[in-house]
Amino acid sequence: MKFNTKAIHYGAIHDKQFGAHVSPLYQTSTFVFEDCAQGGDRFAGRDNGYKYTRLGNPNTREVASRLAALDETDAGLYTSTGMSAVSTALLGLMQAGDHFIAADCLYGGTVAVINKVITKYGIEMDYVKINDTEAFQSAFKANTKVVYIETPANPTMELIDIEAVAAMAHAHGALLVVDNTFMTPYLQKPVKLGADVVVYSVTKYINGHGDVVGGIITGKQCYIDQINNPHLLNLGGTGSPFDAWLVARGLKTLGIRMERHCENAMAVAKYLESHSKVAKVYFPGLETFPQHDLAKRQMSNFGGMIAFELEGGYAAGEKLLNNLELISLAVSLGGVDSLIQHPASMTHAAVPPEERLSAGITDGLVRISVGIEDLEDILADLDKGFACV
Ligand SMILES: *Cc1c(COP(=O)(O)O)cnc(C)c1O
Repeated sequence: MKFNTKAIHYGAIHDKQFGAHVSPLYQTSTFVFEDCAQGGDRFAGRDNGYKYTRLGNPNTREVASRLAALDETDAGLYTSTGMSAVSTALLGLMQAGDHFIAADCLYGGTVAVINKVITKYGIEMDYVKINDTEAFQSAFKANTKVVYIETPANPTMELIDIEAVAAMAHAHGALLVVDNTFMTPYLQKPVKLGADVVVYSVTKYINGHGDVVGGIITGKQCYIDQINNPHLLNLGGTGSPFDAWLVARGLKTLGIRMERHCENAMAVAKYLESHSKVAKVYFPGLETFPQHDLAKRQMSNFGGMIAFELEGGYAAGEKLLNNLELISLAVSLGGVDSLIQHPASMTHAAVPPEERLSAGITDGLVRISVGIEDLEDILADLDKGFACV
């Protein structure tokens, strides 16, 4: 099966009782056993039927296994939020005494969970400019277990060569974990490039309609098993069946939505690049983007996220953001509608200012998630906003 067919059909639940055309919603906390022997077999793992929704549910399993199929990897786990995917994956793959390396530009919540939670439990880490090969090489220690990256990075859009980093991680006996939220499996398949585990905030493009927070972890079977039991099942980051059911609905149109996001974002990036009030545009699809060749190599298209800086820094950016109408001033991304935000004071406010600046998140940086509205309307709104700058 090819991508869109899988996104619609893979692992769909067939309702034998009523013949429902769409996978039914199993909004239940628990499952009834026929007898004690069956209950015992399920808890002992001799029968893989359902027991209790925190431990597994048909709707969460459906959408996670479908995303794993789209990623062309073995297995997937559905989680309550993207952050629960990130934190459960990291806690599940490491223990006290281990060390990990993370790229220096990551989603703000990920930086917060690393700085304030994961490193509290005897796990050491270093942030490294991964594209600085020497710095990256010398960051490995005998106990380095994981390398953690986002590409493109949120919000600077800097890319990392997944294939090269995977090879280096594996040469040091470490695993590569990639946050693929910005790309989705439609545009980039980290496991095919050598990654071991992939995490998603499905809140973004995968669900795509701005009405769910959720996460998914996909990857090689042995690591997914290790993350699931004992970690996800007992830490309790399992997501709700209704949310998973909505995500499965959103996922059906991922391919055509991404096509339109890419098309609109390319046009908006060109508009911004030629605008006299814009100082810099960061979009992998532009020929002027320093890593444009890497983008063409590891991504099948360039996505819907753009970062840019105005001439006049934050003060000018504030004028633009406060004077848009169609494009909402809100964090989050990847929905059908366009959203714009200011990373330094919003999504990345939790990142200490010196870490923020060294990662390239300046106070003047603005991030736009280009939606799938008609391009003319998006550009007209930007024109109106810029007129006030
Ligand atoms: C939003 C986001 C997350 C966190 O996801 P939530 O669903 O908000 O918990 C993690 N990584 C990236 C790249 C994100 O954009």
